[in-house]
Amino acid sequence: LGQRKRDGVTALLLPAGTGPGTTLSTLDAEAALTAGLEAHEIIAHYQPIIALDGEYLAGFEALARWHRPGLGVMGPDDFLFLADRMGLMGQVGDQVRGSAAHNLARWFSDAPAAPDIYVSANASVGELFSAGFVETLAATLESARVPRGRYRLEITETEIMRDPDRAAELLHAVKASGVKLVLDDFGTGYSSLSRLDRFPFDVIKIDQYFVRSMLADASARAITASVVKLARNLGMTIIAEGVETAEMADLVAEMGCDFAQGFHYAGALDPQAAGLAVRQGLSGRFAPPRPVRRS
Ligand code: C2E
Ligand code: MG
Ligand code: MG
Ligand code: MG
Repeated sequence: LGQRKRDGVTALLLPAGTGPGTTLSTLDAEAALTAGLEAHEIIAHYQPIIALDGEYLAGFEALARWHRPGLGVMGPDDFLFLADRMGLMGQVGDQVRGSAAHNLARWFSDAPAAPDIYVSANASVGELFSAGFVETLAATLESARVPRGRYRLEITETEIMRDPDRAAELLHAVKASGVKLVLDDFGTGYSSLSRLDRFPFDVIKIDQYFVRSMLADASARAITASVVKLARNLGMTIIAEGVETAEMADLVAEMGCDFAQGFHYAGALDPQAAGLAVRQGLSGRFAPPRPVRRS
């Protein structure tokens, strides 16, 4: 990873009032992450996923956020590489997926009128391939009493191609446990959708860089239109990521995407704000509960 990311960690991990030029040793950063995990400081925030047909709240993507007391909130780009290097990616992921499961169950029990929402959490292929992943996820959903069919798992397109046979087998096992599967960041790799037919994905997410390029580029639009058509023929629904403007929202709707996610609607919301969005989303048209912001 680049210097920018390491600098981000250094800045955020340092105690308040530390002067410029001070550096944090790798050992200190690792100790901080270990302590943060123990204190359950890493939780999910929730980015709304909006149905383009009617613009209602369909669900949320759960995104890892590290709440550092007195030091602010860190995003995944600033600490997942550290977790990965320390072999703690699975522990971080378990905490995020666990907090997402408990929040989802709470939203359902708070609003017994059965909000038709879901939560979609991320896992790296490294986690998927690690021993006990499928069982741990199933046990988490069971103990949180997550309503069946309301939890999704996002896996990145490029990563599954590292070992497609093994990925396919594990993804089938996840799906058999009642979790829906989302192919994340589609369009960043080189897979053709026909190669993806062997994986039991329910949803594809078109990557934000691809969505952006559609605005300027007619060939990107043509590719997207055919991807959408193929995905639909394979029985999948389509989410557009990184929708930042009304113009982009109109375009992805025109392309035939079913759902959208992006700063045009809302960034990742803390659990309380997301709970509010669930209640608002139930009472009609989705309105971002806060001014659009990047988080
Ligand atoms: P992702 O799964 O593709 O998640 C979407 C990322 O795009 C999020 O960044 C989100 O905040 C950001 N985003 C949403 N809307 C917009 C937009 O309109 N414009 C732009 N420019 N960006 C937007 P975030 O939260 O920083 O997460 C980055 C990546 O970290 C995620 O990409 C995902 O791959 C990974 N990640 C997050 N949480 C977890 C986790 O619990 N486990 C694992 N393994 N990976 C995670
Ligand atoms: Mg994702
Ligand atoms: Mg993505
Ligand atoms: Mg991504």
